[in-house]
Amino acid sequence: MANLFLQFAKHKKPIKSVILDQNVVAGVGNIYADETLWRAKINPMQPACTLKRSEADALHDQIIAVLGESIKLGGTTVHTFVSADGRTGGFQDKLQVYGKQGTPCPRCGTEIVKTKVGQRGTHYCPQCQPLRKRVMH
Ligand SMILES: [Zn+2]
Repeated sequence: MANLFLQFAKHKKPIKSVILDQNVVAGVGNIYADETLWRAKINPMQPACTLKRSEADALHDQIIAVLGESIKLGGTTVHTFVSADGRTGGFQDKLQVYGKQGTPCPRCGTEIVKTKVGQRGTHYCPQCQPLRKRVMH
């Protein structure tokens, strides 16, 4: 993966839309985008260019971790995916925010909120992932 901090700096779009852009990060689907942003404590609507270097690094690490776990566990079964050997995937059991709107955040207990970012259903914790005001230059 190229230096994400430099990639993000080029985009004013919400960070979630940018990590879903296959030209920036290949392989991150909608479910994983929500999970990685929650783990990295970044608001999905945060303009990508306002991310701090430490946040970009945290997101980078979580993308690698989440994609790795998902492959190990056989993908998600949210869309009734069954692998060739008939086993259903296990990653859905590990989802912390995706599809969890109205239930307590596993980290802080605040209710998970569902919204839309770039037409995609988006789940996040308003307490752990506060939207930072844009720093004006
Ligand atoms: Zn939380």
